[in-house]
Amino acid sequence: MDSDIIIIGAGPAGLSFARILADTGVQITLLEKQPEKILAKPDYDGREIALTHLSHRLMSETGMWGKISPKDISLIKDAKVLNGDLDKPLFFDHTKSGKENLGFMISNHHIRRAAYEVCKPYKNIKLLTEKEVSAVETNEVGGTVTFKDGKKLSAKLIIAADSRFSATRRMMGISTDMRDFGRMCIVCKVKLDRDHDDTAYECFFYDRTLAVLPLNGRYCSVVITIDSKDAHLVLDQSPKEFGAELTKRMEGRFGNMTLDTKLFPYPLVGTFADRFYANRYALIGDAAVGMHPVTAHGFNFGLRGAHTLAMEIKKFHDLGLDIGSEEILRRYSETHRAATLPLYLGTNALVGLYTKTTPLAKLARKALLAVGQHLPPAKRIIMNQLTEAAS
Ligand SMILES: Cc1cc2nc3c(=O)[nH]c(=O)nc-3n(C[C@H](O)[C@H](O)[C@H](O)COP(=O)(O)OP(=O)(O)OC[C@H]3O[C@@H](n4cnc5c(N)ncnc54)[C@H](O)[C@@H]3O)c2cc1C
Repeated sequence: MDSDIIIIGAGPAGLSFARILADTGVQITLLEKQPEKILAKPDYDGREIALTHLSHRLMSETGMWGKISPKDISLIKDAKVLNGDLDKPLFFDHTKSGKENLGFMISNHHIRRAAYEVCKPYKNIKLLTEKEVSAVETNEVGGTVTFKDGKKLSAKLIIAADSRFSATRRMMGISTDMRDFGRMCIVCKVKLDRDHDDTAYECFFYDRTLAVLPLNGRYCSVVITIDSKDAHLVLDQSPKEFGAELTKRMEGRFGNMTLDTKLFPYPLVGTFADRFYANRYALIGDAAVGMHPVTAHGFNFGLRGAHTLAMEIKKFHDLGLDIGSEEILRRYSETHRAATLPLYLGTNALVGLYTKTTPLAKLARKALLAVGQHLPPAKRIIMNQLTEAAS
């Protein structure tokens, strides 16, 4: 065997998993098709990642949090959900969560850089870049990956962190629930004239959803989801037109809103693998659960799953048992499916309901907001799910 574990994909999930396991001394080979200079200094990609309290704890334990400058960490204190018009929002108040804030915001490129930097010092993490895996096979004792150039590497266990469109997942015969929403998510950073009071806004207009998420200073992250066929209505706007429309949609509550970066479009596809493991092979990160970004949980779940699997492996490793055994993978799969499936299904249902324009859907939306507003236990359950404060 060339190593104990091979991880395919050095995105935030693959890197975090490697770092969480690093202290065990397990020999890890991390394979990535991109060049190392991109991992070391990723470009800004428009994604501002909302992080839960659980992710804060896990990133602190791995040293990732400490690699990010405090000026690049913003707070979400409160959140407001609005339906169609801007009256009567559903208000999530941080004082009811028992925490000083509901969550945190960090740019994806800072998370990726921090994840790379915490792995670098470990001699037992071997990073091989510009290596694209083109085949995977496993047997009773381990697995083998083959690169595009025909070379091979083997390990006791293969971990796929190779994105929601994971090619190796298919090669290992794992089917996946895949939902193409036929919509685009367009993200950018916007400058404001007035303070946002660290409050996140999720606005469900009838033709699109609009999230305005607080960033340090008078800045925010804007996330627009819109039918793919209409995306050009946003993407073709001049910065002036874009700012003017945003200001109007938010009814001037932040004064003028001015585009501060370019617009970054992402197609919206949700995925949930039918199994999270096969023989000596497991899925983590988006390869296991690829969330719609409206509930901001993709990386939060990636980190949670990486930690769950790493802890199961550590238990077996400490006892001198086989770290590729089915028992480890089954336990990880059961725990992580239970932790993620309700929010995956709930998010997809919410997206369906909030993007339909039929009178029935509009009525159902109002009823849902009223239930949330007037039933404190329901609101608390939603808040706990979204912030992972109690995990
Ligand atoms: C607009 C938007 C907003 C988001 N907002 C949030 C948010 O607020 N909160 C949140 O928690 N999440 C959010 N997410 C989700 C989050 O960005 C993802 O969950 C996270 O980036 C997934 O990380 P990953 O490592 O699993 O996969 P990826 O980042 O996709 O990384 C996969 C890696 O595998 C490599 N790879 C793929 N195939 C191969 C191969 N065959 N051989 C070698 N290497 C390979 C790729 O090059 C890549 O580096 C958002 C996503 C989007 C699009």
